[in-house]
Amino acid sequence: MPEKDCLFCKILAGEIPADIIHESATTIAFRDINPQAPTHVLIIPRKHIATINDIVPEDQAVIGSLYLAACDIVTAEGIADDGYRTVMNCNEAAGQTVFHMHMHLLGGRTLAWPPG
Ligand code: 5GP
Ligand code: ZN
Repeated sequence: MPEKDCLFCKILAGEIPADIIHESATTIAFRDINPQAPTHVLIIPRKHIATINDIVPEDQAVIGSLYLAACDIVTAEGIADDGYRTVMNCNEAAGQTVFHMHMHLLGGRTLAWPPG
């Protein structure tokens, strides 16, 4: 069920515009409004799941589909071979600000490790 005050549920509903670059039955992906790399895409489940902590066994296929979307997108963006990073922040210490879980897909430049 969509959450009334969730920014990403509003993007899913078309109530807030976004640069959507990929869609599947269970996911959508759009460019981050404040990109941290030449490619910075957010891949989200259509189902509202607030954080990684809220994943339940029935979500297994949905979570897998985030990675299948990532595979399609990195091919389309031409960054599959050079390399890229997927990140999911969970809760305050990791800097999660939008509580509809999302995979950051970052690439197109050399990425430092460890992250800050
Ligand atoms: P978090 O900090 O929760 O891991 O990531 C949230 C991400 O959502 C941030 O990178 C932020 O730039 C992005 N973001 C926040 N508001 C919007 C928006 O309205 N549209 C888009 N496309 N991205 C957003
Ligand atoms: Zn949501």
